[in-house]
Amino acid sequence: MIHTSMIELSRSALRSNFRFLKTHIGPKAVLSSVVKANAYGHGIPTFIPLATACGIRHFSVFSAAEALEVKRYLTVPAEIVIMGAVDDEEISWAIEKDISFYVFDHARLEVALEMASALSKPAKVHLELETGLYRTGLEVNELARCVATLKRSPQALLLEGVCTHLAGAETVGNYLRIKNQLALFRRRLAALKRRGIVPLYRHAACSAAAFSFPEATFDLVRFGIAQYGFWPSRETQMQYYARRRLPISQIQRGDMLRRVIKWKSRIMVVKDVPSGHFVSYGTSYLAPCDQRIAVVPVGYAQGFSRRLSNSGHVLLRGQRAKVVGMVNMNMVLIDVTDFTNVQRGEEVVILGKQGREEITVGSFGDMTRDLTYEVLARLPAEIPRRIVR
Ligand SMILES: *Cc1c(COP(=O)(O)O)cnc(C)c1O
Repeated sequence: MIHTSMIELSRSALRSNFRFLKTHIGPKAVLSSVVKANAYGHGIPTFIPLATACGIRHFSVFSAAEALEVKRYLTVPAEIVIMGAVDDEEISWAIEKDISFYVFDHARLEVALEMASALSKPAKVHLELETGLYRTGLEVNELARCVATLKRSPQALLLEGVCTHLAGAETVGNYLRIKNQLALFRRRLAALKRRGIVPLYRHAACSAAAFSFPEATFDLVRFGIAQYGFWPSRETQMQYYARRRLPISQIQRGDMLRRVIKWKSRIMVVKDVPSGHFVSYGTSYLAPCDQRIAVVPVGYAQGFSRRLSNSGHVLLRGQRAKVVGMVNMNMVLIDVTDFTNVQRGEEVVILGKQGREEITVGSFGDMTRDLTYEVLARLPAEIPRRIVR
């Protein structure tokens, strides 16, 4: 089958990111690789073997379906934790397969107890505590009920973790809210300890927290965006460099985090547009002079946002080429007037490096006013992935 674009994952970049992140959190904390949303668009089937080859043995996913997908591509034993959705019917499957899951209401714990007893195999659970995000998380009363149930059934319920999630650690403006969350989390952990409840892992940090709130490291860090080579925000990156007194100029020479992904396509056709004619649908772009336009077979159906119409860039021959006209469902048009003799079949980089230029998802995100997370998560699973050095 012919695909109109292709995604490459860099083994050396990923290896270097894991090395950096592991050094950052220290040898005592476990690195859990967060691979929800098809490994942030990188592609579970390609990413999982790559991560395990880099020594990763712990994965966090959102749903039971994702856990199943991860399991399919594991060739070595590794821990999988479901942070969100798992139906009652999926709980016994999870127990059977040694997959852990978060508990944020007592009802789920009861189902786990019932299934574990039926299977004569313990359910591995992580109690997620409410500390101020107000999304999922056990309130005190509900937590007390869970503790009672855990105490009653130590053979059927194995408390693997106690955790919480922070409300936007990538923004300095949330500083106080996060500090309060962490303080409350520590108080709850202490209270649990007094009741004899000590989990294997206490965890609270995502990528941003690992950098900006080192005290949130505890026993395990859930790294999503950073492992793929992206800072959660500019603020997080600048804070990191400032705290370590690292020269900001170093970022240009080579950041601590390296992008793993490159997304590329090829020119499908080249055409000349006479001065004064509109290009693509409607009247959003009028050729100001005789122009040469190249068509790239990637559009919003492939995750190239319509908001990049008349404003985005791609790389051609290591230089930026501007998007002209509206982004179509399967095509985008770029201005190649200033390039000599552009040919059909020439490589175009939509995301990542070509020569010395780079289109970062960050700039891509700014351009589209999307978050990096969103751009990545929208990359279709059908685009073929390939591992490169
Ligand atoms: C997605 C997610 C993470 C990872 O967040 P990043 O900012 O990508 O590091 C960590 N914990 C939970 C509960 C999440 O849902």
